[in-house]
Amino acid sequence: MQKRRTFIKNAVLGSAAITTAFGCENAKKEEEKVIAQKPIVISTWKFGVQANAEAWKILSANGRALDAVEVGAMVPESDPTESSVGFGGLPDREGKVTLDACIMDEKGNCGSVAFLQHIKNPIQVARKVMEDTPHVMLAGEGALQFALESGFKKENLLTPNAEKAWKEWLKNSKYEPVINIENHDTIGILALDEAGNLSGACTTSGMAYKMHGRVGDSPIIGAGLYVDNEVGGACATGVGEAVIRAAGSAMVVEQMRNGKSPEEACKIIVERIARLYPSLENMQVGFLALNKNGEYGAYCIHPGFNYAVKSEKQDDLIDGKHIV
Ligand code: ASP
Repeated sequence: MQKRRTFIKNAVLGSAAITTAFGCENAKKEEEKVIAQKPIVISTWKFGVQANAEAWKILSANGRALDAVEVGAMVPESDPTESSVGFGGLPDREGKVTLDACIMDEKGNCGSVAFLQHIKNPIQVARKVMEDTPHVMLAGEGALQFALESGFKKENLLTPNAEKAWKEWLKNSKYEPVINIENHDTIGILALDEAGNLSGACTTSGMAYKMHGRVGDSPIIGAGLYVDNEVGGACATGVGEAVIRAAGSAMVVEQMRNGKSPEEACKIIVERIARLYPSLENMQVGFLALNKNGEYGAYCIHPGFNYAVKSEKQDDLIDGKHIV
């Protein structure tokens, strides 16, 4: 484990363009030192601001990081206007909304659901898999059966807007994911609570118009999310196939274990992934990481990825640094 001073030194190496959560349209870029703080919650993309606000209610009342990340993840899941997570998510090419989610606590317990249909808040089902079953991951029909038996309601998750977008897509039926627009975007959320414990959650409807049955990185422990309470946590967004190939989030955590700051750790793994692809056009991957001291950082391939940070002193939306 690193000494506190080393952590702070590493963190100071990282700086980022900060936009306050209340003024994100007029992005004001300024240099900011990342300082150690606790409790703290960080999450991917602009919807992370709202997610963090919910999580903060728990963290600021001395609550558990696990509860905080769960309620945070539920914010975009429940929002029908968010087209990349949960209810309102864009469907696969057959018009089915299929959801992936996972959660991990400070003891290394984890739970996950993949290719789950008809349940608005898959992160809650993932937590139930973690707490109420001897397994880590349930998929498809079995995951749905478990959710229904656990009391979750079966719902139609395809909103009129998502259906309209899918019917438009059907006219050409080309699977050409465009980076940084809302036909993908996962919420990954990491929290460190007052007691010094880390947890994380990750939830998505995956790549829009994917093949029926496709599962991305987001429900895969070690790819879309990884938490080690001795070191830190990391989560991913972007093209899931690329993140899986690199075991992305687990590798980011290993870099932090070896002394890298969260930002340096994310950068190393983004660069590693970039080397796997001859062209990076339309290949976006972003990592977000939080260490045991409450220092955070992120890195991505292309500009456009941002993340939200909430603590006693901060309520920011920050542009991720990028390699291209
Ligand atoms: N990683 C997600 C997936 O591949 C999508 C995203 O985060 O943009 O399903």
